[in-house]
Amino acid sequence: MNVSLVSYEVDPFAKVGGLADVVGTLPKFLKNKVDKINVIMPFHKIVEKNIKKYNLTLEKIAGELYPISHSFKYPFSVYKSYLPETDVPIYFIKNNNLFSTEEIYEYPNKDHQTSYFSDSVLAFIKNYLPDTDILHINDWQTALIPVYLKNNYRDDNILSKISTILTIHNLGYQGIFSPEILSIAGLPGYLYNIDALEFFGQINFLKGGILFSDIINTVSKTYAEEIQTEEYGYKLDGVLKVRNDDLYGILNGIDYNLFNPETDPLIPYNYSKNNLKNKVKNKTYLQNKLNLPIDEDIPVVSFIGRVVEQKGIDLITEILDYLTLFNIQIIILGTGEKRYEDLLNSFQNKYSENLSINLKFDKELAQLIYAGSDMFIMPSKYEPCGLGQMYAMRYGTIPIVRYTGGLADTVKEFSCERLSGTGFGFYDYSSSDLLVKILKAIHTYKRNKECWNKLIFNTMNENFSWEKSADEYLRLYNRALAKKRY
Ligand code: ADP
Repeated sequence: MNVSLVSYEVDPFAKVGGLADVVGTLPKFLKNKVDKINVIMPFHKIVEKNIKKYNLTLEKIAGELYPISHSFKYPFSVYKSYLPETDVPIYFIKNNNLFSTEEIYEYPNKDHQTSYFSDSVLAFIKNYLPDTDILHINDWQTALIPVYLKNNYRDDNILSKISTILTIHNLGYQGIFSPEILSIAGLPGYLYNIDALEFFGQINFLKGGILFSDIINTVSKTYAEEIQTEEYGYKLDGVLKVRNDDLYGILNGIDYNLFNPETDPLIPYNYSKNNLKNKVKNKTYLQNKLNLPIDEDIPVVSFIGRVVEQKGIDLITEILDYLTLFNIQIIILGTGEKRYEDLLNSFQNKYSENLSINLKFDKELAQLIYAGSDMFIMPSKYEPCGLGQMYAMRYGTIPIVRYTGGLADTVKEFSCERLSGTGFGFYDYSSSDLLVKILKAIHTYKRNKECWNKLIFNTMNENFSWEKSADEYLRLYNRALAKKRY
């Protein structure tokens, strides 16, 4: 079985969020289970910088190729590198007209760029990887691939043999554009139809992916259920219900070798679940680095993530005035919507003593925060899988989450009486419920060290490695091959 994963972000070449971690890691765990595996992504501007930064190789393997159906007849070239420390090839589709901005997602004419990319991937596959059996695509940016395959290339002797699996990492982003994109993309006009890509008078790329992929999955079992409801379905719940028989949920894993508190080179003091003394040293190091008062005993509560509505920033900012009254320290690391960034800055000005707001993307600092904090909050409005809570647990930092999507599938409510569970959670999207759980965690931390230490032990004892999820993906790939619809 030969598999290509296609994604707009892949760690460490270009990363915005969890998708990059997933596509950067999953192939390492699948490579011994399939015949061949590789990754394909756009040559974003940032890719070149990261190749230099991480000292990775880069080789041009194809000069002038053209998309097959797309009306933009710009040529593209293809470059090749490898996922770090592996023999998994990664191919970059390069076109200077279309991938010229610093940003990965915020660029003009996203519909032109993503449709051009999707068709170019197929042109590349046809010419250079004709033995591909499975195209594993990710999110709306790549969702036109099965649309091209099932409509434009049904009779192509190479492309018609390919099965597709679409992973939805976040249903909140769908790629909705005006209908003209169909002719620009070289797709048939009949797709402007309620049973195809039409969506309230526009064209919805993700809807196309959902309807034309052989198999669909999302990144946790709970989220797979949730997206079939009106509350979480973003108006695609009906379409997802139609494909219910082919819709699965597979939890993302994390790379346990890379994210290992015993060996992690990004943290100054390594530690293990049986020896937590150094975890505290990371805490004081972190406090010092962020100009917070150095105090081993004060609880440090952190948040890392995109500062957007989805991540529950409203709940956090609603209680910050109150939380800062307590003898705790709060650390926030993230970038996102300007209105939230401005709001967080205004809190920083008010409470410099026990609040540290860091509005930037900083992998090294993130690592130090996972290791040096006591608690990690993720009060998401919705959360397809969520990686932050898993990294936190791996580093013995206690998650406080809203039980939704992957957060519900990974965090178990702690009971001091039974010494069971791995964190704290709440169900309603409510800032007072978040506050109650933070205060409960602080109370346990301060008043019951034995309980707290057991809680840390439990979280570090969890296993969210990729092994199990990779086996589940393999089963899905086999299903996609068996299921291939015409
Ligand atoms: P999403 O994919 O929705 O953004 P996830 O929890 O699945 O959320 O993954 C987010 C990933 O990005 C985690 O690895 C997290 O540590 C990382 N991350 C998010 N924001 C930042 C930031 N500002 N600096 C460093 N890492 C970040």
